[in-house]
Amino acid sequence: MDNRKAILFSAPSGSGKTTIIKQLSKRYDCFEFSISATSRAPREGEKDGVDYYYISYDDFKTRAAQGDFLEWEEVYQGLCYGTLKSEIERIWNNGHVIVFDVDVMGGKNLKRFFGDAALSIFVMPPSIEVLEQRLRSRGTETEEAIAKRLSRSAIELNEAPSFDVTIVNDDLQTAIDEAVKVIDQFLNQ
Ligand code: ADP
Ligand code: 5GP
Repeated sequence: MDNRKAILFSAPSGSGKTTIIKQLSKRYDCFEFSISATSRAPREGEKDGVDYYYISYDDFKTRAAQGDFLEWEEVYQGLCYGTLKSEIERIWNNGHVIVFDVDVMGGKNLKRFFGDAALSIFVMPPSIEVLEQRLRSRGTETEEAIAKRLSRSAIELNEAPSFDVTIVNDDLQTAIDEAVKVIDQFLNQ
């Protein structure tokens, strides 16, 4: 197997991509998560250097100007997220498959960069109503942040056809089984 591969997960916030990636990581020893840099504050339970590299907004902009990022987006006003170029070499040098959890624009940009070396997966919520329920039940965002995330979702959902595969995350186990099928095929080709 050629390990210089990448798997990209994109979806509107609350669709369940972080949950799916965590489950898949238990199954695939070859997976290594690309740790993005962000200017948002850590959520309870999140750790610097594990979930994200947490940096200030000013540091983020300085690093972006220095060209440290392969791609970055101000996903929500004042909240920047980006893929550090150093992550790619770090993970490939470990002989691992890079796993990305990025917003929809980031997913499209990374797919353009990696081409056939990447499998791009769009995680689709069963409906906007369920997406809203999941965002609320996660309990990590303020009402204002939930509203921002939902208004962006409507635009993001239209981008699903740009991805290699769309997986509907209604029943979690079904979604994981579908992901395993396409990932096995991709890793063995
Ligand atoms: P994302 O990373 O796409 O923003 P998360 O993985 O954080 O989304 O999931 C959002 C919330 O929905 C979490 O509370 C998670 O436990 C829940 N969730 C994820 N998938 C499912 C599912 N298939 N059914 C019910 N709840 C789910
Ligand atoms: P959250 O705040 O919920 O962790 O992430 C918000 C959004 O930012 C999600 O859609 C997530 O996938 C996206 N995101 C995380 N890291 C990156 C990144 O490096 N680049 C881009 N473009 N988006 C990212």
